[in-house]
Amino acid sequence: MMKLNQLVLASHNAGKLKELQAMLGEAVQLRSIGEFSQIEPEETGLSFVENAILKARNAARISGLPALADDSGLAVDFLGGAPGIYSARYADGKGDAANNAKLLDALKDVPDAMRGAQFVCVLALVRHADDPLPILCEGLWHGRILHAASGEHGFGYDPLFWVPERNVSSAELSPADKNQISHRARAMDLLRHRLGLK
Ligand code: IMP
Repeated sequence: MMKLNQLVLASHNAGKLKELQAMLGEAVQLRSIGEFSQIEPEETGLSFVENAILKARNAARISGLPALADDSGLAVDFLGGAPGIYSARYADGKGDAANNAKLLDALKDVPDAMRGAQFVCVLALVRHADDPLPILCEGLWHGRILHAASGEHGFGYDPLFWVPERNVSSAELSPADKNQISHRARAMDLLRHRLGLK
């Protein structure tokens, strides 16, 4: 089993670092890639896995440290997995409200039974830039897409994502509740197991 006490997180987002650090626990310290470089790599992969590995390798190369990257998004069954890796820029970079409006439009008149979707989070950990055996952990959170937005918490597609196990939208969950059951929580749980942290 790998012994690590520091990991560089391939993200410039301070909120994400805080959230992932809380899920990971104290034993491993996450440092931001922003300490080493402001340049973000182009996400040229066609899958969450490819993009997570690409970002982790880049962070390891720049920092000289083991690196962790996450790639996440929403995959809608009826749309063949779209918006998928393009979730953040589904409406050409016009933001969350435009992304949600575009998704509702794409699913117009689609019945509930065909509105299944999952939030996806893939975590990739590389020990060094050329690591031939990255640790990959996938977290899926199954739900379905509502017909209208509901709830004030969260971000992105949360107001449109119905969480069957709680009978609410993901934007109606408190942040603490969401962080117990989300795709990111599931992927991080697997990573903690792989690192022998639980
Ligand atoms: P990123 O991996 O943080 O860049 O997230 C990619 C995109 O996927 C976000 O911009 C959101 O549109 C969507 N997404 C990922 N995770 C969530 C979530 O927990 N709630 C809502 N939207 C999410």
